[in-house]
Amino acid sequence: MSQIRIGLLILALNIFNINCYSLTPTPSKKQIVKLTEQASKYIHELNYEKSLIASRLALHYAIDAKNDNLIAISYNIIGRNYDNLSEYDKAISFYKKGLIYANRTNNDTIKDWINNNLGNIYCFQKKQYKEGINYYKNALKFGEKIADPTEIYLTKLNITWAFFDNGQFDEGFPYLEFINKFQKKYGDETTVVALNMLNGMYYGFKEEREKATASFLNGIKLGNEGKEKSDLSYTHQEYSKYLLKNGDYKKAYENLVLYDKITEELNNKEMIKKANMAGINLELDEYKREIDKIETEKDLQYQSLKKSQVIVLLFVIVLFVLLLLVYTLYKNNIFKKKTNKDLSLANEKLFLAKEKAEEASILKSQFVSTISHELRTPLYGVVGITNMLLDEHKELANSPHLSSLKFSARYLLSLVNDVLQINKIEENRIVLENLTFNISDEINMIKNSLSFIAKNNNNFIFVNIDPAIPEYLIGDKLRLSQIIINLVSNALKFTKNGEVFIDVNLSKVTDKMHFIEFKIKDTGVGIAVEDQEKIFEKFVQVGRKEVDYQGTGLGLSIVKRLLGLFDSDISLESTIGVGTEFTFTIAFEYDPEKTNEIINNIPVDLSTYKLLKVLVVEDNKINQIVTEKILKNNNYTCTLVDDGFQAIKILEVENFDIVLMDINMPLINGFETSRRIRHKGIKIPIVALTAFDKEEITEEAISAGINDIIVKPFDSVKLFKVINVLISKTKIAV
Ligand code: ADP
Repeated sequence: MSQIRIGLLILALNIFNINCYSLTPTPSKKQIVKLTEQASKYIHELNYEKSLIASRLALHYAIDAKNDNLIAISYNIIGRNYDNLSEYDKAISFYKKGLIYANRTNNDTIKDWINNNLGNIYCFQKKQYKEGINYYKNALKFGEKIADPTEIYLTKLNITWAFFDNGQFDEGFPYLEFINKFQKKYGDETTVVALNMLNGMYYGFKEEREKATASFLNGIKLGNEGKEKSDLSYTHQEYSKYLLKNGDYKKAYENLVLYDKITEELNNKEMIKKANMAGINLELDEYKREIDKIETEKDLQYQSLKKSQVIVLLFVIVLFVLLLLVYTLYKNNIFKKKTNKDLSLANEKLFLAKEKAEEASILKSQFVSTISHELRTPLYGVVGITNMLLDEHKELANSPHLSSLKFSARYLLSLVNDVLQINKIEENRIVLENLTFNISDEINMIKNSLSFIAKNNNNFIFVNIDPAIPEYLIGDKLRLSQIIINLVSNALKFTKNGEVFIDVNLSKVTDKMHFIEFKIKDTGVGIAVEDQEKIFEKFVQVGRKEVDYQGTGLGLSIVKRLLGLFDSDISLESTIGVGTEFTFTIAFEYDPEKTNEIINNIPVDLSTYKLLKVLVVEDNKINQIVTEKILKNNNYTCTLVDDGFQAIKILEVENFDIVLMDINMPLINGFETSRRIRHKGIKIPIVALTAFDKEEITEEAISAGINDIIVKPFDSVKLFKVINVLISKTKIAV
């Protein structure tokens, strides 16, 4: 059978010694071709060992040379070797490898051969006819492409046999027709026995007995005459089957015996062949391993190539990313430098602006304090002289002009004081003092001092003080009074024929702190809801009518800021036409021990109401007159000097009880004068009478030896109190 189902490979044309090849270096293409031809020749000589050595070497070189065509050819030869050695699975695996490489080439001949070889194994060894016939058909396709009629003829004969063997006579018939038609042209003595057998099989299937018998007998005759013994044995076998089917048992038996006989002879040869091969089987496995190794190496090479390609690609990507990073860093750096430069420029500008703003703020407060000082000095004169006029000329008491003058001067004075106060709070120059006081006394004092305004609008003031509040508390009573005076005087201003309530209650006690809640309530005009927030802003007055009341619009903003110093806030409830209620809470300290200490330290007034001699140092003539008048009205003797030098001079020769010293004077100011007086060892009490704010000059006054400060325009009661305290202290000291 193998003669017809012929394995296709290259017939070696040249024989040369395979041993002349070493594994390196790679020989030329021509040499590899020769090696494959030699391997093919060894197959025909049934020398599979040498054929495998040569084909393995050829495969190795072909792989090295990356020649797909020669790789395919080498695999085909290796497959063919295993096919002949009945190692069909190995053969199939090598053929298939060969086919993969063959399909990458334009060599249709090798594709034809390998497909044909695979068809043989699948149909006649594996009995997988469908798959095998597909391979045959592929082989046919390539055979037609290369236009090799002998190849086509052989393949079609194989297909016919495969179909008939599988009982598919109708499918095989067209191929049978073809091979019958072209036997003379393309067939030869190796195909003619099988051709007759196939015809016999077909006619037998068609029950055309005469034709069938003639075909079988013709095949047997030709087989006996020729060399194709294997096909002869198959013809006997098929003829025997045919005879058996037709009941001719005797002949069937005779043919079967012939079949066995020929097969046995052939098998014997095959056996010898196989026996020859047995010795080399072990080595064959070794060759296979070698071949696998070559393939593995190739795979490894390919993979490492792939790996190195991946590494190169990764390297390129990383390099690119790094370059991008460096570029971004560079750009960032430039941007940063630029931004830094811009920032430092902006910083410089800001710094300059801040310095300017601070300078402006200092200038502003200096301006405010200078202006208020400058305003206070003449105002002192205006208020003082107005009072003097009213005192000395009682007939003018009802003069509207004079009362207008007095009103205007007082208004101006309170405006200046308010502005100054706001300025001081805003600059954090106010520090709360700790004085001991009695809430009831303070509130009643306020009530009394405001009773005049209350009467003007026909209002009544009601005071209600919680008896739970301790008698003495510690805190800044002056600021508290200021807050209450502002609120109560507002209540009195905006209420007519009504009532004003001052409610003071103890709301809670923690440790030493007593939280006192103050409520100032009136039954006046009320404040519209939309105005309730605004009124705490500076200079805000709602619905002001000149004739109704006076005010600067600063009262409530001073209240709010002062309460801020106490860590407190103010709340407001008001209804138009019903009235207004302001509430705030302040925590005062309650500490009887501390209170006793403070009380004990209050200087006692030991004045004996004797005539006191006062030296007034003042450059402003009007103020001289006012101060002299106030002093004389209180039975003090008063000596006036215009400047500091005169004061020092007179003090050296004459005794006085106290000096009232103006600060802002030409030639030599009050501080310097006092310093010189002290320098001369004169210990007389000196009171600075100044339009400056007390806090502003306290430090310098103390260092110049001044004992106390009274701010103009002053309350004469306060002046006398200070004078008396100082004189009594001096006496005690003496
Ligand atoms: P002013 O010097 O005008 O009193 P304030 O700051 O003390 O300035 O008050 C601001 C405004 O708030 C006042 O002009 C008035 O319209 C309103 N106001 C304050 N207290 C009362 C009150 N008890 N009743 C009605 N309106 C008030």
